[in-house]
Amino acid sequence: SEYAAVVNTSVSHEAPLNVAQLRQEFPILSREINGRPLVYLDNAATCQKPEVVLRAQDHFLRHSNANIHRGLHTLSQEATDAFEHARRQLQQLINAPSEREIIFTRGTTEAINLVAQSWGRSQLQAGDEILVSMMEHHANIVPWQMLAEEKGLTLKVIPVDEQGVLDMAAYQALLSDRTRLVAVAHVSNALGTVNPVHEITRLAKTVDAVVLIDGAQGVPHVAVDVQQIGADFYALSGHKIYGPTGMGVLYGREALLEAMPPWQGGGEMIDQVSFEKTTYAGLPHKFEAGTPAIAEGVAMGRAAQWLMETGVERIGAWEHQLTRYATDQLKSTLPDIRIIGEAPGKAGVISFVLPHAHAQDIGLLIDQLGVAIRTGHHCAMPVLHHFGVNATARASFAAYNTKEEVDFFVESLVKVREMLA
Ligand code: PLP
Repeated sequence: SEYAAVVNTSVSHEAPLNVAQLRQEFPILSREINGRPLVYLDNAATCQKPEVVLRAQDHFLRHSNANIHRGLHTLSQEATDAFEHARRQLQQLINAPSEREIIFTRGTTEAINLVAQSWGRSQLQAGDEILVSMMEHHANIVPWQMLAEEKGLTLKVIPVDEQGVLDMAAYQALLSDRTRLVAVAHVSNALGTVNPVHEITRLAKTVDAVVLIDGAQGVPHVAVDVQQIGADFYALSGHKIYGPTGMGVLYGREALLEAMPPWQGGGEMIDQVSFEKTTYAGLPHKFEAGTPAIAEGVAMGRAAQWLMETGVERIGAWEHQLTRYATDQLKSTLPDIRIIGEAPGKAGVISFVLPHAHAQDIGLLIDQLGVAIRTGHHCAMPVLHHFGVNATARASFAAYNTKEEVDFFVESLVKVREMLA
């Protein structure tokens, strides 16, 4: 079917990616921008969608569209089956023990807010401490600040070194029996740093802290096994794993989710409602009030499957090659470039500044040449300020990028630099 069966993960992924062939799966990559072939290097913001994902969403809307979990009619059952199938595909992608632990949300941001509002509000008390890292996205800072203000909690920040590597000694020193939560990114969207999430979790458990991993940038680049990591919560966004916007996942350990109160109230999340007393549905529906983005959920499931079929390790290995190549080319061609974040083994993100060239001007001018990069603070103002800048230009890679695109990007950057001189 268009949604396809849950994949056989024993498929061999030993051969390297065939990038030329893979590009054919992405219709948007044949677009021209300002008369030039599109070079899309804004993948950390959102990545493009392969044909199978587009078809899954389209097929659902054309053939099976109905609301889920409510109707006895054929379409409603088909829709429910397709949606619940997607849940199992996401479960498989991150190796969660149970599909009851896969909560559908609008994305990473909503997943983190769910934990803050449900677990945080019910479990934390004045004086408790939350540790986040210096390199967090605003989505993993602001929900905790809001909670800290409401409940009188203390937010503490794990520093990073000049390469953008988390200071593990400082982290250990910050951990105490007051630490109730450690919330860190798997992969930083601003620096590309891949954090040692297994070790971070192991240390947090020595003080019985709960651990939340912001996996928005982790799951597209690194094979994620939530059981191996050992974290209590793992959040991800569908649009960063080659799926649509509007859908994401909160993975949570079943025992914790069971003990948490619902966050939003409404349809889908109840068992019985009366004006005297309402009882709630079991997991995962307890946390899924209202009609979700059903077609997008189905398509996100197909995207998860595409990722498993293509092989996240192979994608990650290719992105590492591109990142190393691009870094070398940039440094040799533009010797005064400053790359922000040079952690060993970092993921496919290159954040940079050039003297006398404002990031915004670079972004606008390079777009004239068909190259899409992001400029600004990347929703990570604290870490940019830590490095003494307000904005960077950022190129970020996905499975379909090529060395030729890197060459064109570097040549274009040289031209832009000349224009701005
Ligand atoms: N966390 C990280 C590390 C991100 O890169 C992003 C998106 O850029 C988010 C969280 C927020 O994701 P979303 O906007 O999909 O909720």
